[in-house]
Amino acid sequence: MEKRSLRLAIQKSGRLSEKSLELLKAAGVKIDNYSRQLLVKAQNFDLEILFIRDDDIPEYVQDGVADIGIVGENEIFEARKNLNIVEKLGFGKCRLSIAVPKHFKYDSIKDLEGKNIATSYPVILENFLSKSNINANVHKISGAVEITPNIDLADAIFDIVSTGSTLVSNGLKEVEEVIKSEAVLVSNKNLSEAKKAMLDQILFRIRSVNLAKNNKYILLNAPNDSLEKITALLPGIKSPTILPLAMEGWSSVHTVIEEDDFWERIENLKNAGAQGILVVPIEKMIV
Ligand code: ATP
Ligand code: ZN
Repeated sequence: MEKRSLRLAIQKSGRLSEKSLELLKAAGVKIDNYSRQLLVKAQNFDLEILFIRDDDIPEYVQDGVADIGIVGENEIFEARKNLNIVEKLGFGKCRLSIAVPKHFKYDSIKDLEGKNIATSYPVILENFLSKSNINANVHKISGAVEITPNIDLADAIFDIVSTGSTLVSNGLKEVEEVIKSEAVLVSNKNLSEAKKAMLDQILFRIRSVNLAKNNKYILLNAPNDSLEKITALLPGIKSPTILPLAMEGWSSVHTVIEEDDFWERIENLKNAGAQGILVVPIEKMIV
């Protein structure tokens, strides 16, 4: 018989754990005592959270042990499982790159021909090498890949990079970026209608939370004769709200702007005559 609750698999402990739990919390899912157990029921939502290693998430979701999961795209590409990628989540951003010792004379990918490359992601690497027509020896290693060139176990590595500081501290340089990755919400391909409806409900909340994170509420004062110029700089969700100030000839302008081009916009607004600019975080955003 089918379980009624929707079951979500997340990483038990690691780089995605805190952010996954934060996202659930922001989406209004309350969980208690999560650190001790494998499976925890949400208090206020028909959802069970399964805490497992990230490597196991693609398979568990494919097989229906969990209905949905939060996992890095890199793990999905590596696992080659049959899943639906439902939504990119905007955290756990990293890239997977090939790196070589800093004195390795590297001009092009051809320099990897015949070399030994250590990695925890052999599937992604083999794919890339075969697309690039390079024959190299791929060695699967489960941890501390970055030290292998220093102990002559490999000529190069293929690994996750975020800032690159781990590479530098191991005397390596990044030479080929192979894929980018971030955390995604995945689902089993054969969810029942009831579970699809629950997924949609969670997805709606997740989108509202993530949209809010990428946007700011902005309030400013402007002389009425600059309003046209200022509102042209402010594409809101629909259009900005303009309210008269008590001071004659001035208005207050309210709208929502995206975080991405934030500073440039503020600069332009100041130049157009805006004063008293306030920027306020948004908690949830439903459009
Ligand atoms: P587990 O014990 O669950 O197997 P792990 O050691 O394989 O954990 P973590 O290091 O916790 O995995 O990384 C989990 C995921 O976080 C990675 O698969 C990747 O998607 C992402 N990630 C890894 N390193 C970074 C990083 N430096 N910056 C951002 N995201 C990263
Ligand atoms: Zn792992």
